[in-house]
Amino acid sequence: MPDCIFCKIIRGEIPSYKVYEDEKTLAFLDIRPVNAGHTLVAPKNHSNNIFDITPEDWMAVSEVVRKLAIAIEKGMKADGVNIAMNNREHAGQLVPHPHVHIIPRFKGDGLKLMPQRSYENGEAEETLEKIRTALT
Ligand code: 5GP
Ligand code: ZN
Repeated sequence: MPDCIFCKIIRGEIPSYKVYEDEKTLAFLDIRPVNAGHTLVAPKNHSNNIFDITPEDWMAVSEVVRKLAIAIEKGMKADGVNIAMNNREHAGQLVPHPHVHIIPRFKGDGLKLMPQRSYENGEAEETLEKIRTALT
């Protein structure tokens, strides 16, 4: 059995506020919410992140994210939601079990998205080449 904090939550060994559960997924309140209603959607099967989750588990998680985004916005009377996933340590992943964050957002809540910039000359073309090559 994986010694993983989210697996322990899924097995019921650590308590959580369960938002939704089905055969393949569990959704529960994040213990340290950005805003109230901040929910994590995780597959019940253990893997690490987007790089090794099975397509079946990812599809199940994705569909639950879609349904819960609607319920969280409506239930929390929010003005929108952010959906985010951190994958690997240097992308900010703290818990190595795949999970998607659904964060309700409110007009004037003051949260900022990640900083953005412009492409330099030729950089967009080089970038496309790298990603398209990796796809084949
Ligand atoms: P990550 O940075 O890996 O995407 O996010 C992990 C999230 O899990 C954090 O937002 C953190 O607050 C949440 N978290 C960590 N431990 C627990 C826990 O024991 N219970 C719950 N409900 N959330 C947790
Ligand atoms: Zn796990």
